[in-house]
Amino acid sequence: MMLRSIRILLSVVLLVLTGTSVSVHAGDPVFRAGAARVDATPQHLPVVVNGSMIERLVEEVNDPLHVRAVVMDDGITKIAIVLVDNCMMPRELLDKAKEMAMEETGISTENILVSATHCHSAPSVIAVLGSGVDSRYVAFLPGQIAKAIAQATANLQPAQIGFAMGRDEINVATRRWLMKEGVAPKNRFGGTRNDRARMHPGYNNPDAIRETGLEDPDIPVISLQTKEGKQIAFMSAYSMHYAGAPNISADYFGLFAGIIEEKLASGDEERPTVAMIANGTSGDTWLADYKRSERRKFDRFTVADDVSAAALKAFATIEYHPWLPLSMVEKELEVAVRFPTKDEVEDAQKFVSPWAATRKPKTTEEVYAMETLILSKMPKTRKITLQAIKIGTLGIGAIPNEVFAETGLNIKKYSPFEMTYTISLANGAFGYIAPPEQHALGGYTTWRARSSCLGIYAEPLIKYELIELLEKAKGVDK
Ligand SMILES: [Zn+2]
Repeated sequence: MMLRSIRILLSVVLLVLTGTSVSVHAGDPVFRAGAARVDATPQHLPVVVNGSMIERLVEEVNDPLHVRAVVMDDGITKIAIVLVDNCMMPRELLDKAKEMAMEETGISTENILVSATHCHSAPSVIAVLGSGVDSRYVAFLPGQIAKAIAQATANLQPAQIGFAMGRDEINVATRRWLMKEGVAPKNRFGGTRNDRARMHPGYNNPDAIRETGLEDPDIPVISLQTKEGKQIAFMSAYSMHYAGAPNISADYFGLFAGIIEEKLASGDEERPTVAMIANGTSGDTWLADYKRSERRKFDRFTVADDVSAAALKAFATIEYHPWLPLSMVEKELEVAVRFPTKDEVEDAQKFVSPWAATRKPKTTEEVYAMETLILSKMPKTRKITLQAIKIGTLGIGAIPNEVFAETGLNIKKYSPFEMTYTISLANGAFGYIAPPEQHALGGYTTWRARSSCLGIYAEPLIKYELIELLEKAKGVDK
């Protein structure tokens, strides 16, 4: 606020000295916003799709994929928030896209947040579990991300901003359950002993004892409008993993955006409304609630309808500000990896040697034996990036992991901001970060793989550092 106060003071001094009728607001910084949507549907088919235990080769497009970007400028600081219809994107790819965007727009790479929605029906840009990458798409995507940021910057116009918190408890539930002794699936190559948690126990399972985690039904909404009330952008988040979609698809995230973009259409062909919904925290949640006795009807359409209705309900309560201060800070952390032991590597080597040279892994055990060998040749630490954004009294924390709901809820609880939310799978993809006590229960999300390799204490470290970073973003004075 300091710079703003100085400007106002200077205007007043100028008025007194010159006696001219200069408005005291003439020197005030102007808040501006711009948004853009760029197509990111694969140009060549078939494509390699990740997100499952085993690689899929997909030949058809069900609905288009997009990169959506919003740029905000408080007159002093410019920041970009970008969402890509993808499962997860590695840091190197995103660093490249940010460099390209910085060259075109001048927005510093630290002020650019790029995250994946986590739809499980997009071309693979990172090798994970049994899936490789689609190299043509890896070459294609960074340019589309940079293009969206450049277009959003070119679309900047004076704007007003407001935000509110919505809620949808119907479409999110914990998917990890504590099971009776000896019932949870085990994994010889998962690096765990005595697994007691299982994912998806199913309805009415007599061996399922209780959920192991919490749910976060929050739906934050940020609205950016022109001074005349035309919608520029609508940013939201929800903490439900994905709903599932056939072939290439943007899943419920894309449907949500489409519903909002149609309902709040700006009517401006040059600058159409852009809506987006990020993945809040969804490492241990999805949409089926196994506490209920009856299977609910669920598909991506129901989720998109319900969540967009809840978001619009919150949107209706928003009070707008003509200007809010922006700040964004970034921190790199070096985090230890759960590295396989010499014995585990030897065991995995013996297990894969009869088939690894001639074919890809087919079973969960085979996938994790390969993961053990791959991890043993990778570094023992990962360099990850955290970001915190301040938009007035709102804080946003960005984490490059698949985050459990309780981690996000704790960040919200201890955040110095009046309202806070998190965006996961942002600025990289460093796998699940189960809280330490969840590691004690074992199960899929803790099994050691490239998609779950950070140390047992990575979660408290990341949580603490992000809360500190939010504090730092809040304290940035102007
Ligand atoms: Zn997933």
